[in-house]
Amino acid sequence: MTTNTSPKLCMACGKAIIGRADKKYCDDFCRNNYNNTIKADANNFVRNVVNALKKNRRILEELLPEGEEMLRCSADKLNRAGFEYRYHTHTYTNKKGDTYLFCFEYGYLQLEGNSVLIVKRNV
Ligand SMILES: [Zn+2]
Repeated sequence: MTTNTSPKLCMACGKAIIGRADKKYCDDFCRNNYNNTIKADANNFVRNVVNALKKNRRILEELLPEGEEMLRCSADKLNRAGFEYRYHTHTYTNKKGDTYLFCFEYGYLQLEGNSVLIVKRNV
């Protein structure tokens, strides 16, 4: 007896699967291997994002003088420190419609002229 369908390949090792048509893996070993890889990738991604957020927070914290609630400075200072603009924890939009991007309790607003306003806000 012949079949037109090509054999399904194991999601983990890529070998042809022998047996039931709905099988996705050769065996439990391959299934566990695959699931562990997926989990490790997800954990790595989460860790990298959290690290980037913490680094952004530290950069803002170091630029804002102790006891101050806001500071206007050049965006170059953030750039030089390796600030990653794509990561933030939340946003805050004031009544004027300005949207601040926050990394935990430290936030910033992009201003004209390549400068930023750094703020600290615990709520
Ligand atoms: Zn396999």
